[in-house]
Amino acid sequence: MILIESYNCTDKLQAHKKERFWIEHLNSSLNCSIPTRSKKEYYQSNIEQNRQHYIDNRQIISDQNKIKKYDCICGTNCRYCDKAKHFKTIKHKRFIESRKSNSLMHKLSILFSTKRVI
Ligand SMILES: [Zn+2]
Repeated sequence: MILIESYNCTDKLQAHKKERFWIEHLNSSLNCSIPTRSKKEYYQSNIEQNRQHYIDNRQIISDQNKIKKYDCICGTNCRYCDKAKHFKTIKHKRFIESRKSNSLMHKLSILFSTKRVI
């Protein structure tokens, strides 16, 4: 490791921003993890590489999705490639609605219980 700069900072975020500045300024290829980089930035910087990977391995990825199983929170097991189709089923939608209403009932019960205390 080579010390490039001694930098006084008040918090961790400033230190990460300075580290990112030097990584980008020196165009370092050894740093695979760039601090303060969002997932969107990472995706944008690797979009061509990801696209080429998908094109090269399209058949393998497709086969894996057919084999991979998906365990939904509603209790249904289906193939991973059928996940989007399952989300549109009545069973799944009813489960999600019941969770929302249970959550609403829970919030209301907390609200009423706090009012009783006051
Ligand atoms: Zn489900």
